[in-house]
Amino acid sequence: MLISSLYHTQGIIGYNYQKTERTKDTEIYYLHSKARSLACPRCRSWNTSIVETGKTRDIRGLSIGLKKTTMRVATRRIKCGDCSVSSHEPISFCPEPRVSYTKAVAHFIRVLRAKMSIKDVAELSGLHWETVKNIEKNWLRKKYKTVKLKDVRYMGIDEVYLGKKLGYITIVRDLISGSVLFVGKGKGGDALKKFRNRLKRKSKQIKAVAMDMANSYSAWVAEVLPEADIIYDHFHLIKLMNDRMNNLRRSTMNKLEEAQKKELKGKRFLLLCNEEDLDHDAHGELENLRNEFADLGTASLMKECLRNIYKMAMDSTLARKAFELWCEKALASGIYCLKQTAKMITNRMEGILGYWRHGSLTNASQEGFNNKVGWLTRQAYGYRDEEYLHLKIYDLPHLSARKDL
Ligand SMILES: [Zn+2]
Repeated sequence: MLISSLYHTQGIIGYNYQKTERTKDTEIYYLHSKARSLACPRCRSWNTSIVETGKTRDIRGLSIGLKKTTMRVATRRIKCGDCSVSSHEPISFCPEPRVSYTKAVAHFIRVLRAKMSIKDVAELSGLHWETVKNIEKNWLRKKYKTVKLKDVRYMGIDEVYLGKKLGYITIVRDLISGSVLFVGKGKGGDALKKFRNRLKRKSKQIKAVAMDMANSYSAWVAEVLPEADIIYDHFHLIKLMNDRMNNLRRSTMNKLEEAQKKELKGKRFLLLCNEEDLDHDAHGELENLRNEFADLGTASLMKECLRNIYKMAMDSTLARKAFELWCEKALASGIYCLKQTAKMITNRMEGILGYWRHGSLTNASQEGFNNKVGWLTRQAYGYRDEEYLHLKIYDLPHLSARKDL
C-alpha cells in the first residue's frame, strides 16, 4: 500500500506506512506518525518531548468492497516541560479525539445517511447503530451551533406535542427562509428562555410573529419584541374551525339511530375537505348531507365562507368587513361551535388581519413542516436521545423525503 493511496482513498496524512497485515475480512495498515515535534495539547507549549508507548490504536477506515480496513496507529505520548502534563498524541485523521473511525468514514456515513435509515447504514458499514447516530449528531451539532438571526424579519412560533414521554416542544422558524431558529423544551414563554437573550439584540428588526390562536406566546412577544406585530396564522384558524365542526359532527352522530349513524360516520372527509377538491359525485353527497343535517350543513358552509375570505379579500379593510359579516351570521345561527369561533375572531381581529397587513404573509410551509416533525417523532430513536431529536428538527427544512430521517 502506497502512502499516496492511503491519502487519496482514506484521507491519511502525516503518517508513515509500515506494513499491511491481512485477516479473512480485514486489511490492517500499520501507521506511524511523522511528526518530530508536537505542541502540548493543553498549554500549547512547544517545550515537549515525545515518548513511544509501544502500544497501538485501531482506527476504522473506509471498507474496500466487502473488506474492512483498520489503521493500526502506533501511539505516542507528549510530555510537556512547562505544564508537566502527559497527553496522547492526537490522531489527525480522526474527527474527534476519542473516536475510533477516520474523518473519511464520518463523511461517508453522512453521505449514506442522506439516503438510508440509521439501521441500514449501520448494517452496510459494519459500524454500531449508536456510532452511526453519533457521527451524524456531531456533525449536526457543529452545523447548528450558531443559527444566524441577522436576516430574520418574520418568525413563526409553534408548539408540537411529541407524546407522553417527551411532552411539548416549541419551534421557532424564519417564515421567509423556512429555517428553524430555535427548538425549546416545553411550551409557552418558558420554553423560549434560552432564545430570549439572543433575540433581544435583534428585537428591532423583527416585523411580525405568526402563531396559533392558543395565545400562549402573545404575552412573550409583547414583552420581548414590543415593536413586532402578532399575526394569527390562517392555517390555524381554518384548522380550529374544522376541529370544532368535527366535534359537532360527532355530537350530532351520537344522537342518531344506528342506520343514520353509519351514514354520517363515513362522511367526515366530505365535511372537512376543501370544497374545490371534491369531484362531482362527492359534491352531490355533500349537498345531501347538508340538507339532511341542518346544523352541520350550516357549519360546513360557514367553514367554506371563512376559507373564501382568505382567498378573496384583497386588503385588510375588506377582510375586516368580511369577518364582521361572518361573525354576525355565525352568532345569528345559534350554533354553538360557530358562536365560539365568532367570539374568538372578534377578540383576535387585529392579529387575524395581520395576514393582510404584512403582504399576505402566510406560513404555508408550516403544515408540511409539521408533517415532517410527525415523521420524526414516530421514529423510535427520537425518544431515546432528546438532543439528537432537536438537532434533527433543525435539519428538517433540508430534508425532502421521509427516508432521509
Ligand atoms: Zn503543557
